[in-house]
Amino acid sequence: MSEATRSYKAELVGVFGYPVAENPTVVMQEAAFEDRGLNWRYLTIEVRPKDLEEAMIGLRAFNMQGINLTIPHKVTVIQYLDRLSPEAELIGAVNTVVRDGSQLVGHNTDGKGFLQSVREDAGVDPQEKRVVFLGAGGAARAMAVELALAGAAHITIVNRTPSRGQELTQLLSEKTPSEVEFVRWQGEYSVPPEADILVNATSIGLFPDVKETPPVDMASIRGDLLVCDVIPNPPQTAFLRTASATGARTLDGLGMLVYQGAIGFQMWTRVEAAVPVMRRALEEVFS
Ligand code: NDP
Repeated sequence: MSEATRSYKAELVGVFGYPVAENPTVVMQEAAFEDRGLNWRYLTIEVRPKDLEEAMIGLRAFNMQGINLTIPHKVTVIQYLDRLSPEAELIGAVNTVVRDGSQLVGHNTDGKGFLQSVREDAGVDPQEKRVVFLGAGGAARAMAVELALAGAAHITIVNRTPSRGQELTQLLSEKTPSEVEFVRWQGEYSVPPEADILVNATSIGLFPDVKETPPVDMASIRGDLLVCDVIPNPPQTAFLRTASATGARTLDGLGMLVYQGAIGFQMWTRVEAAVPVMRRALEEVFS
């Protein structure tokens, strides 16, 4: 940037969460800003649940370009926004807020990041595929909605707590064209032979519990199944390692995290994100 055009005012984005200190998104976003020569800053901001309203007022006052939301704010933030994208409306949760003039618009990029990773990293088009989700929490909700909207033929929701699983199943069957079924998760889950994609969308295997695996009958995992894990840290989970040993193709949760960040970067800056730079930055964090 030449002296004549230099501005000392940085554009601000960031994340509100509680706890938030261990959230590594700043590393990925700051690497992307630097790569594109943008004078933007990503702030990791601890916001307690009772302070979210004031934090959102502050965000408007500071004329921030947007914000990421993480636990526990993804649902409660909605009341402070001017509008939602259709997908965020359907999912009922927001992980990325984008300023549009004086309005704050809520989006959900988690499922979109997963979809992009399935398409680009695994080279699989989910259209007409049969997909099984282990788990029915926020991540499963975002991923299942996006895969259903992308044309997945059949979705199975497998969850330990029936009410949560049934709620997601009902949402998908009412609001998307996919066929959907719910299976209560008791003991080891046996993957149906006709499944094309299996996704661990639970928190099982997340650091520091790296030896834990979701209870799945590994003998039911065939070689032509794509086995995905939502856990980004560590990317090579014990579940993926075991699935890979049975001959299945695997997709780690790092790609999802990188792509959802890249989508957010592009929404905020309107500049194409350097995905490999963002991925490398996170790989270093998780190595
Ligand atoms: P939630 O708390 O909303 O949901 C957790 C889900 O995991 C529930 O379905 C829960 O079942 C299930 N679960 C947890 N422990 C067990 C267990 N021991 N046995 C069976 N089921 C279990 O979490 P999120 O959906 O927000 O997040 C899930 C994971 O996804 C986290 O590890 C998070 O880090 C990761 N994530 C990764 C992203 C990425 O970009 N890679 C993005 C977002 C999240 P039940 O309903 O019975 O409690």
